[in-house]
Amino acid sequence: MQTSLSVRDQQVIWHPYTQMQTAPPPIAILRGEGALLFDEQGNSFIDATSSWWVNIHGHAHPHIAAKLAQQAYELQHVIFSGFTHPAAVELAERLLPILPGQQQRVFYSDNGSTAVEVALKMALQYWDNQGQRRNKFLAFKNAYHGDTFGAMSVSGRSVFTRVFDELLFEVVFIDLPTAENLPELVRQIESIGVGNIAAFIFEPLVQGAGGMLMYEAAPLDKLLEYCKSQNILLIADEVMTGFGRTGKNFAMENCTTTPDMICLSKGLTGGSMALGVTTCTTAIYEAFLSNDKLKTLFHGHSFTANPLACSVALASLDIFLDPACTANRQRIQHAHTQFMQQLQQYPQIKNTRLQGTIIAFDIITNNADGYTNNIAAMLHSYFRECRVMLRPLGNTLYILPPYCITDLQLETVYQSVITLIASHLK
Ligand SMILES: *Cc1c(COP(=O)(O)O)cnc(C)c1O
Repeated sequence: MQTSLSVRDQQVIWHPYTQMQTAPPPIAILRGEGALLFDEQGNSFIDATSSWWVNIHGHAHPHIAAKLAQQAYELQHVIFSGFTHPAAVELAERLLPILPGQQQRVFYSDNGSTAVEVALKMALQYWDNQGQRRNKFLAFKNAYHGDTFGAMSVSGRSVFTRVFDELLFEVVFIDLPTAENLPELVRQIESIGVGNIAAFIFEPLVQGAGGMLMYEAAPLDKLLEYCKSQNILLIADEVMTGFGRTGKNFAMENCTTTPDMICLSKGLTGGSMALGVTTCTTAIYEAFLSNDKLKTLFHGHSFTANPLACSVALASLDIFLDPACTANRQRIQHAHTQFMQQLQQYPQIKNTRLQGTIIAFDIITNNADGYTNNIAAMLHSYFRECRVMLRPLGNTLYILPPYCITDLQLETVYQSVITLIASHLK
């Protein structure tokens, strides 16, 4: 008899964000179709979190597959320093005009963390190239910007960063903005000395890994406006919120203040390949133009602008910009809105919240709220048995489906949540 993949996996693989001693064996997925994933036994799972928020158009999308295959027969990779290729140019040409603000240059990298690293380096060197010393960053408490050291530094200090805290560079963390606390936030920023702050990095409207924490666009806009007035560069980390997740195409469309840089990844390729993008305005870009070689942005990855990844990003963009995709997102938002009313009847949960195609709530437990809450393990196994792929962040449960999820599939996901609350939570 053939040994199952799950068993072979356990001999050789180390999984991300997984306590390997206590985690149950992984589910081996052999194929996907739309919002469904199929395991070794042929069971189907509804992917209600878009496979870590990346898979916006569902699995094995034929348009993406066709473009990938076509590109693979033409050009799979070429060095991106001194060379270029059609997919990289076309993607930048098509992406820049649909981004909020005056984004005029694309810098490619490999994932969300690298997109953030690039933005941080651009910000620091933007000031350095002009002979100014601004080397502090501003970020929100509970922020998550990635797992590399720079990205970790601008992320909230948490169980994720604990071991590395003393090696992370200093960042000033402020509360999420509300209509009431703006004067206090401004006071805090001023006490650091605005002239020291290179940039403010933030996840607009929804803090993802921090626990799907949501906040209003209006106070954010005011805060951004203040930062802009102090020449603090604005880095919008739209790695998770980009490509329609929060309702509009990009979350920053809800603000009038425009960012100086935008980080994109996750949905960029429709969840089919790893690719990161950092965009910037002409002002940022021009600060690096010089006869002085030292003003060069010395950053680049082996796979920068990989043609296969750029091609699937173009294919994903085709699907994303089709009105059918917008209609799907509105359909999900509408269903979420009704589901939210249903959820609010249950005293076992709190903080029910909704933004575009994301709905989230917290389960009330005797444990401290947060990532290490003990209820997570029970929830994992419950949803596994329901064949619904929902993975809580501690005691926070959220639904973030691929836009192609059917009404029936969405209803199945909702039902599994209702049954959980009504029958399994005290
Ligand atoms: C996931 C995420 C990142 C990191 O992206 P990776 O591709 O996992 O490195 C950065 N910022 C935000 C807002 C994210 O959600």
